[in-house]
Amino acid sequence: MNQITTAGAVSRLIRELSKLPGIGPKSAQRLAYYLLRVPEEQARELAEAMLSVRQETRLCSVCFNVTDSDPCLVCRSDQRDPGKICIVEQPQDILALEHTGIYDGLYHVLHGAISPTEGVGAGDVRIQELMNRLQDGLVSEVILATNPNLEGETTAMYLNKLISPLGIRVTRLARGLPFGTELEYADDVTLTRAIEGRQEF
Ligand SMILES: [Zn+2]
Repeated sequence: MNQITTAGAVSRLIRELSKLPGIGPKSAQRLAYYLLRVPEEQARELAEAMLSVRQETRLCSVCFNVTDSDPCLVCRSDQRDPGKICIVEQPQDILALEHTGIYDGLYHVLHGAISPTEGVGAGDVRIQELMNRLQDGLVSEVILATNPNLEGETTAMYLNKLISPLGIRVTRLARGLPFGTELEYADDVTLTRAIEGRQEF
């Protein structure tokens, strides 16, 4: 009986782990059996870290980045130029751009990209919230830093059509980021060049 329950717990863990991105069934199995052997304290740490990342973080009500204070540190900072907003698809793209240390403006996280093939429309990402932010007339440049792939380009074109009539300068990260890649995986040198070399859309 006990053996059956244990096996059930292990297969439950394997099932949950294999839902994570980049973790196939084999890796899930390996991780599960590894976790079975770690000290209970370590397992508890991991479980608590997973729970608290959900409980103690929220989205910034201004830029929609993940934060534990609202507005987030970037939105609150007086060191950042409020005249520039850089549009990214995911919060982790901000990490990549901040890592270069070259950008001093604000951000806006769309939480996705327009994808007609996957049924993701403009209303499914945070475009309306962006348009609301642009109403105050403080923003003079919007930098489109969506991924250099089909969905990212579609989204950039859509945003350009909405934003350029407002008299706001719209720029796009320079080519040099290989097409089909994602921003979060770009290296610092490539990203720095892409930001510095950004061009009118
Ligand atoms: Zn923010």
